[in-house]
Amino acid sequence: MTGPDQKLALSIQSVSKSFGGIQAVRSVSLDVPVGERRALIGPNGAGKTTLFNVVTGELPADGGRIQLFGVDITHKSVQERAKMGLARTYQISQLFLHLTVEQNLFLAASANRGMEFHLFRPWHRYRSERDWVLEVAEQVGLSDHLHDIVSELSHGLQRQLELGMAVAMRPRLLMLDEPAAGLSPTERVTLVSLIKNLPKEITLVLIEHNMELVLDLADRITVMNRGSVLAEGTPAEIRANEEVQRVYLGSSYA
Ligand code: ATP
Repeated sequence: MTGPDQKLALSIQSVSKSFGGIQAVRSVSLDVPVGERRALIGPNGAGKTTLFNVVTGELPADGGRIQLFGVDITHKSVQERAKMGLARTYQISQLFLHLTVEQNLFLAASANRGMEFHLFRPWHRYRSERDWVLEVAEQVGLSDHLHDIVSELSHGLQRQLELGMAVAMRPRLLMLDEPAAGLSPTERVTLVSLIKNLPKEITLVLIEHNMELVLDLADRITVMNRGSVLAEGTPAEIRANEEVQRVYLGSSYA
């Protein structure tokens, strides 16, 4: 028997998930080494979001095994996985719209630490947490917006805050679900550069439909189709893969 592989941030082994008669994920296996930036692509309905939800623990796997940093998490709860360093962003905004940027980041930062947040308790009681919040705000380009109410931020800044909320949880593996969806070209450029500049020790797995972004950001790409892994490789290998071009990319990326 081999021991746990500490060099892998994520190891998915023969994971399957069905909804009634629909096999959304069919015996998928993939390994993501620590520090890698991996994109998960594929046509609509390929099973990407389902696989994400199984990895984060929001959906139970029907079969197979998932390891996070060498530890079996297949049967662990979302909260247990989060405590082990797994964080995700969502396609749908889950921000506290009537609080400030700083308060949102503080809530995310303390979520994994069992700290209770009281709006009227003096900030100095939370000093180290607050320093961390300021650092995260800097990382996601929100230092000048700390006291802004979230509902009044532009869409692009709200997406930056979503990224900040995940980073504030001190993840070792960060999963991003279509981070650039719905952004203008300018907002997208900002977000991509922020993602690129995240600390290298955070392993990234992202679902993304925007191929330019994927080719720009990812070290490696896994292509899913009809619930299975169709191909895996570097951006150059994936661009050159004829089967991938056929099912997904189209001639503009050939
Ligand atoms: P997209 O790029 O459109 O988000 P995806 O690759 O993320 O697609 P999934 O959302 O994982 O694909 O869907 C895979 C398949 O599973 C689809 O056929 C979808 O209709 C089905 N499916 C997903 N979630 C459910 C659910 N909760 N109940 C029933 N069927 C589901």
